[in-house]
Amino acid sequence: MNYIGRFAPSPTGPLHRGSLVAAMASYLDARAHGGKWLVRIEDIDEPRCPPGVAEDILATLAAFGMRWDGEVVWQSRRKHLYEAAFARLGRWVYPCGCTRREIADSRIGIAADGAAVYPGTCRHGLAPGKTARASRVRVPDAGDPAGVIRFEDRWMGIVSQQLATEVGDFVLKRADGFWAYQLAVVVDDADQGITHIVRGADLLDSTPRQIYLQQLLEAPTPSYLHVPVVTNEIGEKLSKQTGAMALDTEAPLAELLRAAQFLGLQIDGPPDSVEAFWTVAVTAWQMRLRLDGTVLPLPAIQPAQ
Ligand code: GLU
Repeated sequence: MNYIGRFAPSPTGPLHRGSLVAAMASYLDARAHGGKWLVRIEDIDEPRCPPGVAEDILATLAAFGMRWDGEVVWQSRRKHLYEAAFARLGRWVYPCGCTRREIADSRIGIAADGAAVYPGTCRHGLAPGKTARASRVRVPDAGDPAGVIRFEDRWMGIVSQQLATEVGDFVLKRADGFWAYQLAVVVDDADQGITHIVRGADLLDSTPRQIYLQQLLEAPTPSYLHVPVVTNEIGEKLSKQTGAMALDTEAPLAELLRAAQFLGLQIDGPPDSVEAFWTVAVTAWQMRLRLDGTVLPLPAIQPAQ
């Protein structure tokens, strides 16, 4: 099978227990399929990426025995590709002069990711008195079947989103001049020939936007698998903001076993080395897959702490 997977961390902070779960799932799925596993550093939001963090993430992956194929790719060095894709979108893209506050005040709806749905104020030309800030891509009107994006996620099942009412026209180039994640990720996944995307379920709501951009750019749609996100005691996704603990790089095996438990993997042993862990974990991951590649429901286990 032609399988090219990837792990695409944003180096805003070191790898933590939540991102290790996503990295592990994508690594195991690639290895279980005899595929390639690429690493892409998503440092496109440069102001949020402190120096040295990306190198730290790569060193952690290596210390945890995760070996990537080929060269690591850095989004900050690929802006020409985003520029070219943006240019190809032509009339699908328009300048927008609305501020975040104005959009929030329009109250036409709240998207699943918590952002306000864009009311379309600048869709037919910049509203009077406004100057261009961001650039947005048009989504089909509500009622146009092309604007309902549906896909089968290998873990989460059928996902469907109506772009017009649940997201609205979305930003491809930000007011501060940086490319938006949604554009960069689609361009890179297509350019790198990614066939299988395995990542955290916090990105499930972004996937319909990405599939829509793939359609506009005539890029293939990969297969998707979103793993549940690790949360803290009060149900917040682990992140730098919610105080996620950095991984204990001195005890990789214990961290790996904890992440594997979260993914519902049956790891017998326990293995006595990182190498031995991965051999057992690949088989354990294969046991979680049905023949069609979808994932069996999680066994009833205690979530990882
Ligand atoms: N860079 C994104 C993040 O760290 C993940 C992108 C992706 O896997 O599509 O949240």
